[in-house]
Amino acid sequence: MALSGIQIYKMLPQTNCKECGFPTCLAFAMKLAAKQVELDDCPYVTDEAKTDLAESAAPPIRLVEVAANGHKVKVGNEVVLFRHEKKFVNRPGLFLRVRDSEDEAAVEAKVAAAAGYSVDYVGIDLALDGFAVECVSGDAGKFATTVAAVRRSSDLPLALVADSVDALGAGLGVLDDERPLLVGADAGNWEAMADLAAQNEAPLGVRGGSIDELAELTAKIKERGIDDMVLLPAAGTLRASLELQTQIRRLALKNERSVGFPTLIFADDSGDPGRESVRASQAICKYAGFVVLDTFSPEFVYPLLVLRENIYTDPQKPIQVQPALYGLNDPAPDDPLMVTTNFSITYFSVANEVEGSGLPAWLLVTDAEGMSVLTAWAAGKFDAESIAKAVKEFGVADKVSQRRIVLPGHVAVISGELEEELPDWEVMVGPREAVDIPAYMKTVMA
Ligand code: SF4
Repeated sequence: MALSGIQIYKMLPQTNCKECGFPTCLAFAMKLAAKQVELDDCPYVTDEAKTDLAESAAPPIRLVEVAANGHKVKVGNEVVLFRHEKKFVNRPGLFLRVRDSEDEAAVEAKVAAAAGYSVDYVGIDLALDGFAVECVSGDAGKFATTVAAVRRSSDLPLALVADSVDALGAGLGVLDDERPLLVGADAGNWEAMADLAAQNEAPLGVRGGSIDELAELTAKIKERGIDDMVLLPAAGTLRASLELQTQIRRLALKNERSVGFPTLIFADDSGDPGRESVRASQAICKYAGFVVLDTFSPEFVYPLLVLRENIYTDPQKPIQVQPALYGLNDPAPDDPLMVTTNFSITYFSVANEVEGSGLPAWLLVTDAEGMSVLTAWAAGKFDAESIAKAVKEFGVADKVSQRRIVLPGHVAVISGELEEELPDWEVMVGPREAVDIPAYMKTVMA
């Protein structure tokens, strides 16, 4: 049972030294009880107290890891209901489902295509995380053959899905030194499934028709020695699924350890990609640890990958690129020089337009703490002084022979100040929108 703030306080040094960032040990204890700080933030907790506090210090949703061939998918460790309270921690694993009823060659081709898909999004590589292999034939041998076919086409982590312990055992038999997720424990087979998971040191997916049933099962499975579990709450409609996921997250955050595990959602198998996409999107936002898709195509998967990326970024830390002088399209020293901020979307908007035009240019990216141009200007993070500083810091004058620098049109107002900061340079005002840059380069800068 989790401890209250007062109980935790009694185990702290009670010196109110403030090194944890809080004015008193009691304030720190209250935050620890609410899972909003780490126990390690107090450097003076005794080893004995650490042991006693371990449960309270543990995240309310257990961290579960599946792994294969150097690839790892970690889910759980979440501490908030709403992203803006702090952040969501571990991206849900996006897995593609294959069934052992599918033709072996088709499985290999499907898995190879999905495993080979990767897309660059504002400098981040986005890709699927693994595959869920499901036994629908009831034939353990056929299931093992399908797992082997998947493994021939991809080395990504797997979830093995079956109602039968024999099938899961057969699937495990073709894997070598991996940690797959085993999915299939329920009220009728949980003992054998728990034993199989224990023998293979694998996390176990547990199915239940209600939260009460799931809680009862996880408690029994935990007593059998399994700590790493994933919940599969039964859900029909979108609304029912949302309600169950939210209830589980709320209960877990209230330290109800019996449901303090990541969840897994099968997006949809109706054959309607639109419906599947909606369901997967909901699962990514609220609060799945694994989302299993039935459909793979770049146009289907890309929006889900981007959605996941956006939901799981820290809302207080914009995605940034490294401040530097970037060469686009292999520029020569006398090619144009533009300047912008290090907000990723700003950088890639400009860079993509320039690269798409085929025109060579230099792009100076200043440290604006990840803000876009207008926001950074309003916050005093993108001004004449910071641009002049970046010109010097990145040795622009050594790499660029001409002395013209193009400002984003939105900050035309600072052109005079920049001329004062860079008296040897001609300051030009470029377009407001990145999409207009190629035309500007071809006309004004030609
Ligand atoms: Fe108390 Fe530890 Fe914080 Fe110091 S660092 S105030 S001892 S909780």
